[in-house]
Amino acid sequence: MGLEEQLPSGFLLTTVEAAAGWVRKASLWPATFGLACCAIEMMTTGGPRYDSARFGMEVFRASPRQADLMIVAGRVSQKMAPVLRQIYDQMANPKWVLAMGVCASSGGMFNNYAIVQGVDHVVPVDVYLPGCPPRPEMLLDAILTLHDKIQHSKLGVNRVREEQEAERLALSA
Ligand code: SF4
Repeated sequence: MGLEEQLPSGFLLTTVEAAAGWVRKASLWPATFGLACCAIEMMTTGGPRYDSARFGMEVFRASPRQADLMIVAGRVSQKMAPVLRQIYDQMANPKWVLAMGVCASSGGMFNNYAIVQGVDHVVPVDVYLPGCPPRPEMLLDAILTLHDKIQHSKLGVNRVREEQEAERLALSA
């Protein structure tokens, strides 16, 4: 007789990793961090019409210490980059970053000295969302993509993030 037949019905088998992934993805709390026009769509996503609370996101946190998701909503100016990095560093691990819109992802149409040409020069990015600006439905879709990534990520060291960080430090050296 196989193990499954011997167990009482309703008994759930899983791994600690899968359980942690499920809990983490279902309780993402974003930091309040709007930079430009994309932030208007991000705020709309947090409103009752799109009801992000059904994904366990509840409220945007004013303190980075209570947040584990940074949605970079808008272009990042060179002056803002160190502030953004400081907020990221203040967030507790594990944490994730979503680059919302073409400006945050690559600098977009602002190809000039004042704007960081992609926020991944400052912090490691988990999901890039194109659009100018992306609509709330697109942001929710990117958040669900992130959920998938969190659900299947390994506990402990995040190697992709470490490699991105090492590459960024090498480029800025
Ligand atoms: Fe504004 Fe478009 Fe850039 Fe978003 S992608 S910050 S909407 S210009």
